Amino acid sequence: MTFSVAQVRADFPVLAREVNGQPLAYLDSAASAQKPNQVIDAELGLYRTGYAAVHRGIHTLSADATTQMENVRTLAARFLKARSHEELVFVRGTTEGINLVANTWGVSNVGPGDNIIVTTMEHHANIVPWQMLCQRVGAELRVIPLNDDGTLNLEVLPSLIDERTRLLAVSHVSNVLGVENPVRDIITTAHAAGVKVLVDGAQAVMHHAVDVQALGCDFYLFSAHKLYGPTGIGVLYVRGDILNAMPPWEGGGSMIGTVSLTEGTTWNAAPWRFEAGTPNTAGIIGLGAAIEYVHNLGLDNIADYEQTLMRYALNALREVPDLTIYGPPERLGVISFNLGKHHAYDVGSFLDNYGIAVRTGHHCAMPLMSFFNVPAMCRASFVMYNTEEEVDRLVAGLTRIHRLLG
Ligand code: PMP
Repeated sequence: MTFSVAQVRADFPVLAREVNGQPLAYLDSAASAQKPNQVIDAELGLYRTGYAAVHRGIHTLSADATTQMENVRTLAARFLKARSHEELVFVRGTTEGINLVANTWGVSNVGPGDNIIVTTMEHHANIVPWQMLCQRVGAELRVIPLNDDGTLNLEVLPSLIDERTRLLAVSHVSNVLGVENPVRDIITTAHAAGVKVLVDGAQAVMHHAVDVQALGCDFYLFSAHKLYGPTGIGVLYVRGDILNAMPPWEGGGSMIGTVSLTEGTTWNAAPWRFEAGTPNTAGIIGLGAAIEYVHNLGLDNIADYEQTLMRYALNALREVPDLTIYGPPERLGVISFNLGKHHAYDVGSFLDNYGIAVRTGHHCAMPLMSFFNVPAMCRASFVMYNTEEEVDRLVAGLTRIHRLLG
C-alpha cells in the first residue's frame, strides 16, 4: 500500500480547523496525538449501540463488550509481538503502568541496599516512581549520564551495575531529544548481570514496529493517546513468568478469585488480577481501533514517511537564525529548540498566533533541562499526518519571531 499523507489527514477531522485565523499546524503530537474518525467512531459506536459493563455479564451486551475488550488485548499483544495476550495489562497510561510495576514487582523485589538505574533523559514518569520506591524500601537510585550531544553515555553502564542492581528503567525514545536509545544492547548488558529492564515506549510505538520478544525486555509500556487512540488507556507488557509471580496492587472487583470475610481473598489469574474495578471499556475499544489504523497504514510506511519529513524539518530549521536544536541529528518524532535567549513560552505564544501548536516548558524532563542548562525548550513534533508545508510555516514563523524580537 502506498502512503498518502492527504488521505491520512482526511481521517483526522480536527486537522481541517483553523486556529487564530490560520490553518492549524498541529506539531504537538508527542504530548498527545489527534484522533482519526476510525477511533472516534469505534468509541462512539460502543456507547451508541453496544455499551454495557464487562465481565461476568450473562446478558448479550455485556458478553459482547467483554469479547471486544479481550480481542483488543490480543490485538495489542500482536502489536507488541508478545508471546501471549496474557502478558498485557490494561492501565490508564504509561505513568500508571510504571507505578504499577514499582508498587508490585518493585516492592517485592527491591530491598534495602539494592539499586535501580535510570537515565538523565527520562520523563518524570520513569524517574519519580523509582525515587518513591527507593525511598520506601531503602534502595539507591543510580543514573546513566549523557554525552554532550544528549545521547546516553553507555560506557559507564557496566560500572553502575553491581550485584545489588535489580532494575534498569530506560525510555525507548526520548520525548525531548527524539533519540532512540540502543535498548537491545542495554538489555543484553543488564541481563548478563541478572538485571531486569523496563522500557518506556511512550514515544516509540507510533514511529516504528516494536517487538518485545526481539528486544528481550521484561516490561514495556505505552499510552494509547500518543498512538492516535483515546486518553485514559494504555498497555503494560510484562514477560509472562514475571507477571505471574507479581502480587496484585489495587484491590477490588474483577481482580479476585474468591472473597471471604473469614478465609480472606484469593487472586484472579494474571493479567486480570491487575485490573481492579470496571475498566475503561470504550477506551480499550478505541485503542483497538488505533492499533488497527496504524497497522492498516503499515508501520514501515509510516516510518519511511516520518523519516523523510524529519530530515526535511532538520534541514529547513537550520535556516532559522539563532536557533539552538538540542540532541543529535538522528531522531524520531520530535525536535526541541530555543530561539536566541527568548523564553520558550514567548516563542510558543507567537507560534500559536500563527496557528502553529508546539509544546513549551520542561517537558516533564527537568533533569534533562538541567543538563542543557535551560529552564525550558520549545518542542515541535512530527508524525504521519504532518507535512513539509507545515515545516515551512514553522520555519517562516520562527524567522519572523527572530526578526520581531531580535
Ligand atoms: N514517558 C514518556 C517518554 C512520555 O513522553 C510520556 C508522556 N509525555 C510519558 C512517559 C507519560 O505518559 P502518560 O502521561 O500517557 O502516562
